[in-house]
Amino acid sequence: MSHTKRHASRHHPGSDWVVQDVRSYAYWRAGVDDCAACGVDVALDDDHYGMELFRERATEGKLGVERERLVFCSRGCVDAWLH
Ligand SMILES: [Zn+2]
Repeated sequence: MSHTKRHASRHHPGSDWVVQDVRSYAYWRAGVDDCAACGVDVALDDDHYGMELFRERATEGKLGVERERLVFCSRGCVDAWLH
């Protein structure tokens, strides 16, 4: 797996991932990311939905938390992705 996380295909995270927060954003930061559900370009400085996920992960004996952020173009895509 040499792909970086940002450009890997958006596999559905496993059941150990917990959705922490989903909300609409009018602005998050400059840039564009792919909708995790339908793949269209999402302008991060315009209206979109952001999802924060995390999972606990043991690393060298210490419990760490791994975080992921997905973006969606619409509420419908959030719902489609969740189901
Ligand atoms: Zn979408």
